[in-house]
Amino acid sequence: MQCPECGSKVRFQLSDVAAQRTVRCGRGHAMKLEDKGGGARKADKAMKDLEKSIKRLGRR
Ligand SMILES: [Zn+2]
Repeated sequence: MQCPECGSKVRFQLSDVAAQRTVRCGRGHAMKLEDKGGGARKADKAMKDLEKSIKRLGRR
């Protein structure tokens, strides 16, 4: 994602979008992440479920 103010790159995690957190670009501009339609939340949950099943596999 790019900062709408200065165009510099903004780094964030999928979980930040799911939680609709406010993130800052490298120059300190704040912007609120929106999880439109809840897609990020679903994807984040799917990722966590996948991690859990991988961990479960590793234990065997
Ligand atoms: Zn910026």
